[in-house]
Amino acid sequence: MVTTESRQPLLTVNRNGLYCDAGRFYIDPQRAVARAIITHGHSDHARPGSKAYLSSPSCAPILRERLGKTAPIQTVEFGETVVMNGVSVSLHPAGHILGSAQIRVEYRGEVWVVTGDYKTEADSTCEAFEQVMCDTLVTECTFGLPIYRWPDPSVVTDDINQWWRTNRDRGVTSVLLGYSLGKAQRLIAGLDPSIGPIYCHPAVERMNNLYREQGRLDAETIDLENAAVPSRWSDGIVVTPNVPADSPAFSRLGPTSVAFASGWMAIRSRRRQRGSDRGFVVSDHVDWPSLIEVIKGSGCSRVLATHGYTRQLCRWLNENGTSAAPLEENAERDSKIVTIDEEASA
Ligand SMILES: [Zn+2]
Ligand SMILES: [Zn+2]
Repeated sequence: MVTTESRQPLLTVNRNGLYCDAGRFYIDPQRAVARAIITHGHSDHARPGSKAYLSSPSCAPILRERLGKTAPIQTVEFGETVVMNGVSVSLHPAGHILGSAQIRVEYRGEVWVVTGDYKTEADSTCEAFEQVMCDTLVTECTFGLPIYRWPDPSVVTDDINQWWRTNRDRGVTSVLLGYSLGKAQRLIAGLDPSIGPIYCHPAVERMNNLYREQGRLDAETIDLENAAVPSRWSDGIVVTPNVPADSPAFSRLGPTSVAFASGWMAIRSRRRQRGSDRGFVVSDHVDWPSLIEVIKGSGCSRVLATHGYTRQLCRWLNENGTSAAPLEENAERDSKIVTIDEEASA
């Protein structure tokens, strides 16, 4: 019989990432492992080489695109429980990008939730965030400072369309910068196609097709590299993660106005740093008020913060009645390093 004190915490951090010793699985491991549960398809969460992956069904096509067609991926529906070595695991929508999941882990009456990246704003291109109750909440805090408060998304969408319309009327091509997976599709869903055609970087177009196949994107888009030369490029808008130097497709656009869509655009100095003409505050992460709301709503007695302003968030929570610590301090007690072979044979 083990006492609570002597038992390893349900989830700990080792050199491979966030590990559940009782269940023998990792969540978003940083290295190749035997068993990986993946919150979503962004490359800092979904890394190649693991022997087995578990994801939501809508995340799987994105993982295959990123990890290769033969990646060993199993899926579980949102809300359904799988038991791994006696540990109950279920996935719940995180509202971050298509297929993004929070991971709920339950063992011996104790419940942990790992949020992965998440947002609570409405977004037609992905499943809506679900609040999940837990004892320990492992939360991201990319924008975990009180200065980060997102404006009304419909106002930002109107601003983007107005910027595009004005550029078009001036004969200037609009170039809208946003990450190719998730951010780009959300931006495209908000664009007004009556203004002009929507061109996309090939990396964006690949992801658009995956979203379309799942009924998450209706707008018509054109792959910029294969686009026939229109009478005026400036009628259109180009959605792209970057403006590649020496790209023939981009150099033929003529005069451009470049705007960056990101949560970082809430900060004036960041807008200047990016060197873009405009900044729109569009984030696929929670802002400060929503972060605190989710923490309170989870009913958790403890927060482990990761992925952002961990120290600042933990200080604020500890001063305001919620026990909190950076996730990284939750290292395995014995500093043994778990390797693939070790786990596979365990
Ligand atoms: Zn992400
Ligand atoms: Zn992330």
